[in-house]
This record gives sequence, C-alpha cells and structure tokens, in this order.
Amino acid sequence: MSLASWTHSAIPRSPAGSRRSSAGGGRALVLDYKTNQLGEREPADVVAEEYRLQRAVYALACLKAGRDEVEVVYQFLERPEDVVSTTFGRSDLAALEDELSVAIDRIREGDFRPAPSEFACAGCPALDLVCAGPRLGGGRPWAPTPELTAAG
Ligand code: SF4
Repeated sequence: MSLASWTHSAIPRSPAGSRRSSAGGGRALVLDYKTNQLGEREPADVVAEEYRLQRAVYALACLKAGRDEVEVVYQFLERPEDVVSTTFGRSDLAALEDELSVAIDRIREGDFRPAPSEFACAGCPALDLVCAGPRLGGGRPWAPTPELTAAG
C-alpha cells in the first residue's frame, strides 16, 4: 500500500510479527518484547520517547477490531521486571486517531526525523557512505551536518 493511500483506517485487524495479542471478552493484551540497550535510561522514558506512536498503533488496531479495552505492555529484556503498561479504552479512540493522523501528515510533508543510534544504525548500508548515523546525534531536531551537505 502506498503512503498516499495509507490512513489509519487501514490498520490491520490484528497485530503481527513477534508481538502477541490475545483477546478475552472485550479486552486485548499486546505484549512487545524489546532488546534495547537501556543504559541509564528508565524503560518508561524509552517507551515515551521511542514507542509512543507504535503504542498508539497497537491500541488503535485492537480498538478498531472491536475490543473495548486494550493493554499495551512493553517489556525490555534487559530489565524484565520493569514492565511499562498502558491501558486504552474506547474513549481514547479519537485522541489516538488524531495522534496517528498528525504523524501521517508529517510523513506526507516529508518531515522525517531520524533518531540514529549505535544500535539502530548497526548494519545500515548507508552508514558512513551517505549518512553519519549516530554522529548525527539522537533525540534532537534533525539538521544536515556540514559534511553531509552538498559541496559548493
Ligand atoms: S545510518 Fe543513517 S540511514 Fe542508516 S539507520 Fe542510521 S540514521 Fe538511518
């Protein structure tokens, strides 16, 4: 599906991949295991900074599939006891759709903000050829580094 035709109404009816979703009655559980290297960061902060939109998509997928409530849980293998759990209900549907719509609009406008890291960039074929990868810095608004701008 092309980005031009993609909307949040096209969210698949069940999450796929390594995630597990089970539904009992009107409730769904999405559990996403993460292999991030946390360092000094708190799991909740990592979820808030890196997975907020993903969490919204998970919740939307389940709510649009007819569940009344969905609990989205992130568990980092480095700190499995420190799970990050958020529960969404049907009353959250409009806010979740708005959040996703904003993200889709930004992508359509070409507003891509990379968040490079040693982990994310490892193995990327662009690293050190057309992209400085982690040297771009992470979590900051992106701007081309001088060495990556056209020579002139
Ligand atoms: S090296 Fe650049 S293009 Fe590759 S993953 Fe990192 S930021 Fe993205």
